[in-house]
Amino acid sequence: MPEHALLSASSSHRWLICTPSALLEENFKNESSTFAKEGTDAHALAEYKLKKYLGIKIKKPKSDFDLKELEYYIDIYFDYACELISGSKTRSKDPIILVEQKLDFSSYVPEGFGTGDLVIVADGILDIVDLKYGKGVEVSAVNNPQMMLYAIGALNLFDSLYDIEKVRMTICQPRLDNISTFEITVDELEKWAEDTVKPKAALAIKGEGEFSAGDHCRFCRAIFNCRARADENMKMAKYDFRKGPFLTDDEISEILSGIDELQKWASDVQAYALDKAINENKKWQGFKLVEGRSIRKYSDEAAVSKVLIDAGYTEDSIYSKSLLGITAMEKAIGKKKFKDLLSDLINKPKGKLTLVVERDKRPEINNTAEADFKN
Ligand code: SF4
Repeated sequence: MPEHALLSASSSHRWLICTPSALLEENFKNESSTFAKEGTDAHALAEYKLKKYLGIKIKKPKSDFDLKELEYYIDIYFDYACELISGSKTRSKDPIILVEQKLDFSSYVPEGFGTGDLVIVADGILDIVDLKYGKGVEVSAVNNPQMMLYAIGALNLFDSLYDIEKVRMTICQPRLDNISTFEITVDELEKWAEDTVKPKAALAIKGEGEFSAGDHCRFCRAIFNCRARADENMKMAKYDFRKGPFLTDDEISEILSGIDELQKWASDVQAYALDKAINENKKWQGFKLVEGRSIRKYSDEAAVSKVLIDAGYTEDSIYSKSLLGITAMEKAIGKKKFKDLLSDLINKPKGKLTLVVERDKRPEINNTAEADFKN
């Protein structure tokens, strides 16, 4: 098995919609980021904790990141995982519990495999749990193809041994306080794999099918200079507006629906061009590289303090004392203590009114009069 699957489960939300993307991405280096390294360390710690809990011998991993912070968040995942493990023991006498398990779904996706962070097999339910250490985007387990492919891989191993009726998939994202769960029957899952995954994967492995831009472009390595994404966004610029001095309400709604993606695309193109100019000395016609504005900083805070104290200034006049912010305080004293001691002293002001797409989970505020009243 190759170390890296071309059609990976983690990129399946992309290649299932934009089938040529997987092969196109091979033109770009898969550069590891600090966030990816932090995620790897978090997974290693989670694996250590769960294996130790299960009585499997394992060495505690080291990390260059803040271990206290890693422990704090991984314990949220660990506690949740332990609850699921206990639950499985009430359904089967000897459930199978696997940590960091390789899952092979190559019967539907050429060379398809992935790693399940926690797989629990017990009569009735197969649990797949995925730890996501990132805090950039909240990930939902509902119809999540990565989780569904892992489930296919797990069924491949255990369906014949256990009487599994449904699969429960959970994404645990401790840094966003997000635990998202989705259940699907084995029949529904197999139908999805046969009718959707198999034909799309057959196209994707050959780089065939239609390019399709959208939210799924976010982590595509071709995102910066992909022509299909540019075409999609340029459609807005070429929008065929009706005549007349003012835009109609329908035209404004049309513009709003594409504006977030348009802004993202524009800043991605800027970032791409800047990176080439800085790192590859690339000259873009009509543009030059200059130094941006900068903010003055002390070169040595201890030396500044000494000079001022020696000059007769008091500590009170040159230092300011401030309370830790809410997140930092919660981390410093622990969530429980924070709640016990400070919950009456926390105000959550109303957020600034903002326009979002209708599928957003937040409840609608009907008009500004209602908003004023609430405020
Ligand atoms: S950037 Fe978007 S449209 Fe372009 S290849 Fe990637 S997923 Fe497809």
